[in-house]
Amino acid sequence: MIKFPILDSSPVEHDAPLPDAADVVVIGAGVVGVMTAWELARQGQKVVLLEKGRVACEQSSRNWGWIRAQGRDPAELPIVIEARQMWRDMAAEAGEDIGLRTSGVAYLARREKDLADFEAWMPYARDAGLDTRMLTRAETADLMPSQKWAGAMYTASDMKAEPWLAVPAMARAAARAGIVIRENCAVRGLDIAAGRVVGVVTESGRIAADRVVLSGGAWSSLFLRRHGISIPQLSVRATVAATTPLPEVFAGGGVDDQIAFRHRADGGYSLASGGFHELFIGPDAFRALPKFLKQLAEDPFGTRYKLCAPKGYPDAWTTPRKWADDEPSPFEAMRILNPAPNLRIVEDIRQKFAEAFPQLGEVKIATAWAGMIDTMPDVVPIVDHVPTLQGLTLATGMSGHGFGIGPGIGRVTAQLVNGQTPSHDLSRFRFGRFTDGSPIDLGPSV
Ligand SMILES: Cc1cc2nc3c(=O)[nH]c(=O)nc-3n(C[C@H](O)[C@H](O)[C@H](O)COP(=O)(O)OP(=O)(O)OC[C@H]3O[C@@H](n4cnc5c(N)ncnc54)[C@H](O)[C@@H]3O)c2cc1C
Repeated sequence: MIKFPILDSSPVEHDAPLPDAADVVVIGAGVVGVMTAWELARQGQKVVLLEKGRVACEQSSRNWGWIRAQGRDPAELPIVIEARQMWRDMAAEAGEDIGLRTSGVAYLARREKDLADFEAWMPYARDAGLDTRMLTRAETADLMPSQKWAGAMYTASDMKAEPWLAVPAMARAAARAGIVIRENCAVRGLDIAAGRVVGVVTESGRIAADRVVLSGGAWSSLFLRRHGISIPQLSVRATVAATTPLPEVFAGGGVDDQIAFRHRADGGYSLASGGFHELFIGPDAFRALPKFLKQLAEDPFGTRYKLCAPKGYPDAWTTPRKWADDEPSPFEAMRILNPAPNLRIVEDIRQKFAEAFPQLGEVKIATAWAGMIDTMPDVVPIVDHVPTLQGLTLATGMSGHGFGIGPGIGRVTAQLVNGQTPSHDLSRFRFGRFTDGSPIDLGPSV
């Protein structure tokens, strides 16, 4: 099988020397970190972006590549609508083909009941001025040649891009804009003095900065715990399979409760399971369980449980929770979190996709991979300052849909860091919602 494109063996592209000081240090070069850094630089800030592995090596290259407004939490809608425009601007600015296309997203109904669930989201689409519409069986078959579905919810203005091309291209553009990016550079912890952040401690030395952004994806909870800050963040394994090139039956992203598919720029399809992921149980899972009960009750069969995470994973039983600044941290021990795909799922989605589109003939798998999706109990991120530690801002917990909205999250995070009033209401994403007695609010997203 072909290897996944961003691995430990991939060349280091960004190895800028570390300055002694910066206005802002951003930890983690996924889509959120890259875009936050870029937005801060646009505002004239001197920014250092540090990545333990390679740019986009974890979730931001492993995702399905959907840039969707459809189905989102209402608090995310204005941000993702702005992000879709930002994607267009960036694709032009990046000067590389990142596979950005307005190709639509379709939520497909195998049963009439699924249509009723989708329909419940339509008022949010109307309020946001989206072009989302419900499709009948015949209209769905017109959109994509299959008899499998009873109907769909469809947003023609939603988009796609190729994740492992897009985020590295954006990082290159950000570096051209003056951001110092360093790969293979784990941040071991925060430098704290007199109760506030004064910089970061990296494996290659200290950088002074009185503002730090943590966009560490699946590692954020572990990073924070060392400093006595707790967030209920867990990660689940999600498997993706890539077919060899096949004719295009639908240009956009399609998903039902069993399979998800998207035609890639290289001619193959990215296939995944519609509603299945796996949780490796570790100490964080026990700690966060009470907060996740509502999510579990809503979707009791969507998660499979594995007794323990492989060695070195953020929530593995043996992963250290404390370490000294002058000793290697768990972040250096696992530069790229590269979970093995679940091969049973790969075969299952291959078969289901072939059944949905028999005219494609034999569906062959070229490669498969997995990513650890970082998720919050209410399935929306934290984008906020940490009230108990001045100088630290979080943009994490994107809960499986941070790729498309990433540029918008980067923009509002940069505004927060710069002390500006964010251009969108971020109260739903506040840090304190898990400790101030608020009930867990799953929102109406589908
Ligand atoms: C299989 C799969 C399918 C998905 N499909 C979609 C989709 O179609 N559309 C969508 O919108 N979203 C999708 N998502 C979700 C999306 O990919 C993520 O929400 C998004 O990429 C998160 O970006 P991030 O920058 O927060 O985290 P990440 O991309 O995980 O980046 C975090 C980075 O921080 C680095 N890091 C962590 N700790 C440290 C440290 N101490 N020092 C230095 N570096 C550190 C990590 O190495 C990593 O590169 C999917 C995710 C997966 C896994």
